Amino acid sequence: MNIYDLHEKTWKQLGERRDRLPHALLMTGQRGIGKFDLARAFAESLLCENPLPSRTACGSCLACGWMAQGNHPDFRRVQPEALTGEEGGGEEREAGGKKKPSQQITIDQIRALDDFLHIGTHRQGARIVLLHPAEAMNRHTANSLLKSLEEPVPGTLFLLVSNEPERLLPTIRSRCQQLPVPLPETARAQQWLTARGVKDAARWLALAGGSPLLAAELGAGDERVLLDALVTELAKGGRADPLAAAAAVDRAVKAEKRPAPLKRLVEWGQKWLVDMILLRSGQAPRYFLAQAAPLAELAGQTGLSGLLAFNRKALQYRLQCEQPLNSRLFLEDFFLNYAMLFEPVRDAHGRTH
Ligand SMILES: [Zn+2]
Repeated sequence: MNIYDLHEKTWKQLGERRDRLPHALLMTGQRGIGKFDLARAFAESLLCENPLPSRTACGSCLACGWMAQGNHPDFRRVQPEALTGEEGGGEEREAGGKKKPSQQITIDQIRALDDFLHIGTHRQGARIVLLHPAEAMNRHTANSLLKSLEEPVPGTLFLLVSNEPERLLPTIRSRCQQLPVPLPETARAQQWLTARGVKDAARWLALAGGSPLLAAELGAGDERVLLDALVTELAKGGRADPLAAAAAVDRAVKAEKRPAPLKRLVEWGQKWLVDMILLRSGQAPRYFLAQAAPLAELAGQTGLSGLLAFNRKALQYRLQCEQPLNSRLFLEDFFLNYAMLFEPVRDAHGRTH
């Protein structure tokens, strides 16, 4: 099962745009559902010299070969350096003592597109820029991109992919045709995972909030090192020593090679909290199905108002961890607040309830 089988409806919508391509298309949706792979498959099919009747790339022509090798002259992929490093080469750079790869798309990367956009295409076909995640641009970089979007070059398609389109400049959004990519159906996503040899597909899919690519990462264990470190500490509830918990999780964060570990950690923490709130309210958990029993026990030791307050605080944590910060201090604050959920409430007379 391919990415376009997983997103059959969206693939059809993309197909309808083939003959009258917009200058810029913005594909949006939840993280980990395969938007990038879908956008790339669309680019491949547009550049392919011999597309199949299903309007997918043939995989065997010259253009498909170039795409597979990552050197099609009419295609550019723009992404933060940290994501490129993920596919190899990143570790070498860090071992060489140079600065850490950027988590952002830089203005130089956008400026470097100028030549590409203003010379003729090599194959007299489309010219495509695939940019993701589009929210990883600061204002200067976004304004530089805006110039290209405002003066479209004929035959050129900008494919923007974003998990958080609300963070894009409104002027960027308004220059793009928007294509929301919905969550794939659960049954189909499970099939897709099972076809990839992922065991316990239903469990990981729930934990990933329905995002199959994230579920596959969980099933493969890549993301679980970080998650398990967090869950081990969270599961201790009121028995945990917040500072020791922060130290243990911080080691996992520091050892993590893939981008934005702290942000991913906060997202997992939020899901844990949502499940505690659901259980405290007498409902079934949504994400941590395998831990339902211990979670219910923990939730029973907390108060709903405290949980809701901490949930609001978690939103601030999400914003904070976009900024460079001391992860150890950040985690200490997180675990101290978490521990307070389990403290008995004292009234004005010092009596506990
Ligand atoms: Zn081809």
